[in-house]
Amino acid sequence: MIGYCKRCLTPDTWPDAVFDQEGVCLPCRVAETMEDIDWNERLNELHRIGKWGRDHSHSHYDCIVGVSGGKDSTRQAFYVRDELGLNPLLVCCTYPPEEMTERGAHNLANLAECGFDLHVLSPAPVVSKKLMNYSLHQHGNLFRATELALYATLPQTAISYGIPLIFLGENPSLTFGGKVGSFDSDANNQRSHNTLGGAKVADWLPAGVKISELVPYCYPDEWEFDKADIRIVYLGYFMRDFNDIVNTDFALNHGLEPRIGDDANPEWTGSINPADALDEEFVHINQFFKYLKLGYGKVTQQASVKVRHGQITRDEGIELVRKYDGKCNEIYLDKLANYLDIPRSELDDLIASYRNKDLWHLNNHGEWELKEAIYSHNNAESVW
Ligand SMILES: [Zn+2]
Repeated sequence: MIGYCKRCLTPDTWPDAVFDQEGVCLPCRVAETMEDIDWNERLNELHRIGKWGRDHSHSHYDCIVGVSGGKDSTRQAFYVRDELGLNPLLVCCTYPPEEMTERGAHNLANLAECGFDLHVLSPAPVVSKKLMNYSLHQHGNLFRATELALYATLPQTAISYGIPLIFLGENPSLTFGGKVGSFDSDANNQRSHNTLGGAKVADWLPAGVKISELVPYCYPDEWEFDKADIRIVYLGYFMRDFNDIVNTDFALNHGLEPRIGDDANPEWTGSINPADALDEEFVHINQFFKYLKLGYGKVTQQASVKVRHGQITRDEGIELVRKYDGKCNEIYLDKLANYLDIPRSELDDLIASYRNKDLWHLNNHGEWELKEAIYSHNNAESVW
């Protein structure tokens, strides 16, 4: 039986979700305390961290900001440079050209056009594709290896350039739930994150790649962190309004190109924010697989944020989930099969095998439906 947060829409199938005795999730409790936080003190702390970065840098850059060109990283880059007065090196690990959308390339270029120095690492496409295929088959997740590279590129670059301070965006534990390693601004423990936890590069050798091809996927060891004094910090922790809503507005006003047309249709994408995840299209499929495995998709996350910030009511959020959560147009599935060079039937077999039968059943019309959806009548009040 799935339980849902009484305030938002977060299910207890969320990995490592934290709920209190009253059935309210951690991000909802965090949102309640926003008014009580001394934001001036946090800003002072952030300035101290920035000064630490500048004082300890062996480069002319004061810090590294991890970017994709998306809404959050666009806001981060501007904030670090224009509000904190630091000189950041933006670091991006890109998708292979064949996978990356024109829109993603535009948004990354936009950051450079806004006057930032941009360091881009593009892992070898052939290896990336093998790892993606293997990851999908082994984990029902296209991006396990991709995420490894996204995470690893930042400390790798920090170590090689001698820039110890790295800024990330939000602390996912506080914004979305789950335990990533800290409940404050410290991201050094993110090696305990789902993706990085216990990750060994050798685990990927069965994908048919050589160890020498896995350099971008190697998250530096703790001793390397210590030696280089690496400090990774969640910038979002210090910003009162670092959220989907404000970040989207900011980025759109600073050159971000959102999805348009069918690509922005939540019936196609399973996403209600056309400024979310713009770099490539397989993200919709990954959310779809999460929906199969855990019973919730992107809209659950997006609508929960809106509920938490008072933009919509919980009932309106539930309706959005009912209409759009887990949607993924066949076109994207066809494209993925073509990209990975596997028969479409193989993809359909994977979809069948990753559908969690504890959460799903066939209804009277022979269609798969969630047994305990938040929108089903008995669950609307939550089951806590
Ligand atoms: Zn909640």
